[in-house]
Amino acid sequence: MTDVARRLSSADPKASYLAAKAGIDAAIARVLDSGTYIHGRELAAFEAEFAAWLGAGGCAGVANGTDALELALRALGVGAGDRVATVANTVSATVAAIVACGAEPVFVEIEPDTMLMSPEALEATLQADGAGRITAIVPVHLYGQACDLPAIVAAARAHGAKVLEDCAQAHGAGVGGRKAGTWGDLAAFSFYPTKNLGALGDGGAVVGGDATALERVRLLRQYGWRTRYVSDEHGRNSRLDELQAAILRARLPHLAAENAYRGQLATRYLEQLAGAPVRLPVVAAGGTHVWHQFVVRTPRRDAVRAALEVQAVLCGVLYPVPLHRQPAYAQRISLTHTEQACAEVLSLPLHPGLTMADVDRVAAAVRDVM
Ligand SMILES: *Cc1c(COP(=O)(O)O)cnc(C)c1O
Repeated sequence: MTDVARRLSSADPKASYLAAKAGIDAAIARVLDSGTYIHGRELAAFEAEFAAWLGAGGCAGVANGTDALELALRALGVGAGDRVATVANTVSATVAAIVACGAEPVFVEIEPDTMLMSPEALEATLQADGAGRITAIVPVHLYGQACDLPAIVAAARAHGAKVLEDCAQAHGAGVGGRKAGTWGDLAAFSFYPTKNLGALGDGGAVVGGDATALERVRLLRQYGWRTRYVSDEHGRNSRLDELQAAILRARLPHLAAENAYRGQLATRYLEQLAGAPVRLPVVAAGGTHVWHQFVVRTPRRDAVRAALEVQAVLCGVLYPVPLHRQPAYAQRISLTHTEQACAEVLSLPLHPGLTMADVDRVAAAVRDVM
């Protein structure tokens, strides 16, 4: 009989739950007992704790990351007729939020090494925007690494555009010791179960120092009510419930250690894969990477992925098709670096449920199939 190797995948939300089970179970019991299931103490406490953890001015919980992006854009005044600059190598959610506001996405090219928004390309895009229709910029801190925020924020300010950071993959990432989510006018987080800080269901938050805009998010997330049953403006229902807020409170104290452990796993990968015929991830100078994904690149991506699967190593591809090539958001533009990245990226398993030996096994498998 042959040994069946444990399947290693790029995320394991159950392992994350089990690692914090006692605290999470107690938090769930506390909420069930409390009799308040929406907009109560747990949400208020989580908002305060998460804002403090980030060093942000404030936080407003919402139903998911996509809503966080959309409501933040609306709170910043983005609407019909506006254009919003972002990247095309992101999840559909980033662009869905822009379109939901009635705005139009403008895709900016990425840096070939970090695969993050290029500040030079952004400058050029803004310069070409004579009419000043680009009113907001959404940099996406992809894979756990922050964009060049000082340069992006400076370019935005010079153009009079707002900055909304997409932090869905970057809980705890930063630049120069200052966390992602505290640089822009607002930032959007997702607590989808596989994110570095995950709920056991959907969840999201808008974070930032613009108190007026944050207050507006609080109106928009509940029918535009300032006073109960009276809509000041057209809002909707996008609430973070008490159960998810309490679960996130139980997990937040572990986030720094989990991010550090992700860093150790990534360091191990970099050592074990040194000299292997794949392009390894590049960490920008002065940045704190929280390794939401460990992404290698190879032109033979699909074949390598299939060969690894045979060895019970399940890899992810974030993202196979750039937004400007997707039917819903197609644009007749060409973005060479973005298209090449989407064709080559492969996420190796990396999450806090893995051991160093697991990483060694994956690295050996990668060398073997290459
Ligand atoms: C997960 C994710 C989102 C969307 O978050 P949801 O909670 O799934 O709506 C947005 N942007 C990026 C970059 C993401 O990874």
